[in-house]
Amino acid sequence: MLGQMMDFPLTLVPILERARNVYSRSEVVWRRPDRGVERYTFADFYGRARKLAEALTRAGLKPGDRVATLMWNHETHLEAYFGIPCAGGVLHPLNLRLHPSELAFIANHAGDRFLIVDDALLPCLESFRKDAKFERIFVVKYGCTGSDAEFRKIHKFENYDDLLETASGDYQFPPIDENSAAAMCYTSGTTGRPKGVVYSHRALVLHSFAETVADAFGINHQDTLLVVAPLFHANGWGLPFTAVMTGAKMVFPGPHVDPESLLELITTERVTASCGVPTVWISVLAELEKNPEKWKLAQTMRAPCGGTAPPEALIRGLDRFGIHLIHLWGMTETAPLATTGGLHVHMMDWSEDEKYAVRAQQGIPAPFIELRVTREGKEVPRDGETAGDLEVRGPWVAASYYNMPEEAARWTSDGWFRTGDVAAWDDSSRIRLVDRSKDLIKSGGEWISSVDLENALMGHPAVREACVVGVPHPKWQERPLAVVVLKENASATQQELREFLGTKFAKWQLPDAFVFSDAIPRTSVGKFLKSKLREEYANWKWE
Ligand code: ADP
Repeated sequence: MLGQMMDFPLTLVPILERARNVYSRSEVVWRRPDRGVERYTFADFYGRARKLAEALTRAGLKPGDRVATLMWNHETHLEAYFGIPCAGGVLHPLNLRLHPSELAFIANHAGDRFLIVDDALLPCLESFRKDAKFERIFVVKYGCTGSDAEFRKIHKFENYDDLLETASGDYQFPPIDENSAAAMCYTSGTTGRPKGVVYSHRALVLHSFAETVADAFGINHQDTLLVVAPLFHANGWGLPFTAVMTGAKMVFPGPHVDPESLLELITTERVTASCGVPTVWISVLAELEKNPEKWKLAQTMRAPCGGTAPPEALIRGLDRFGIHLIHLWGMTETAPLATTGGLHVHMMDWSEDEKYAVRAQQGIPAPFIELRVTREGKEVPRDGETAGDLEVRGPWVAASYYNMPEEAARWTSDGWFRTGDVAAWDDSSRIRLVDRSKDLIKSGGEWISSVDLENALMGHPAVREACVVGVPHPKWQERPLAVVVLKENASATQQELREFLGTKFAKWQLPDAFVFSDAIPRTSVGKFLKSKLREEYANWKWE
């Protein structure tokens, strides 16, 4: 017997309609390049997103056509997040921090037809435009504060606002199959060439629901959400979709993601939830510790954080300022939310130390996400200790990469995605990530987790950031080398750091070298760039 419910497709259109029908008074706030702050309502957002859908259709957009964006986080990018997929197109945000050759490769590989670009990013566009094949380019007046006439003078492309003006208002969103493509993102390329992931409407809708679960991010209408994660990285972590679905106020920082600018928005806009990679929160914490009187938060805040493992010391440090870090593990391939590091009810009377140790783990899967940890085709014991390859499946997990059949081996024959991460799990499917398999340090036939060493080092009071990589060694194959950035006015010696780690790790696991540095190189989305450090220290002379 079949259920007798309506067949109602899970697409982004009803989420967009909800912005007008239910949450028209909610606000969208954004910062401009000149630091000015502007705002409009969801009613305005809805009107412009709908105009964009109609205008693109009039411009010849066909179902499945890719429309690229090259934009900072601001209101027009949000309009593109909905206007493009609700017209049947495929939103494709380009990572503005990539090398021009990578941008050209990605735009061509995705087959991008149109491009929407910030005027402030025209130099970035020029660096690869000749190698890409955009049919039409629409420029958004974002950085230019002069008149429209002046704006037209500074570029030779079509205007985004003129495009919107071609909409008559007499437009119905087309019927869309929930399994058709809504958006695509390329992986940030930390460990290899970027690979394209194509999200269906259905996947994005279900992912949005998952982010509202109280044990995940608990995003709701009372929230004010500061979207720090770039909208070109894993769908801005899905938060624009979730915020519009719930009517949560959204705040976009534009290009200003330094800690002072973020804290200014957090305090003036009363932000209650935000999202970003650990390096963002490390610098926010440093600023809070430096100027505690300046940044008194009137509200508490939740901070979903992932991309790399947030160190326990960061979680503890932010708690002192009313910022509750929620550990998130995910990937571009998982849209990205897969696990969150909340506490189970039976842990509530555990000691503070035990609770922080749990919160520093990657945590339990979101509803409908399934995990398994295997070694040589068999599940490893769920003892929280034995490490194996982490595999994942679920309704918002990629089933393949876009046009890359050579990557098919990333999926097992029974349909699980091989994440490339090494993890241990327990009887609640709670995972602790040991490392990326490519970052594990192979020393004398044993593995050393670079993540564990980094997290412990960042617990030292003098250490601001630490990154550990395996460096070739004539006898042991590889040995750990730690690159350390000290806090302002703090000092520590190699010997002190070694002794500090010696209380937590076996002697053979300790880094054999500590290099003090002013900064650790970062990827285009703010992760530590280990490949660069490995290159830099490849010929390290071990004593
Ligand atoms: P890239 O693979 O290019 O870095 P992604 O941003 O999609 O692109 O990265 C996903 C990877 O980031 C995961 O496979 C994992 O290695 C790492 N990662 C994400 N969240 C966490 C976390 N909470 N702890 C440790 N590593 C994480």
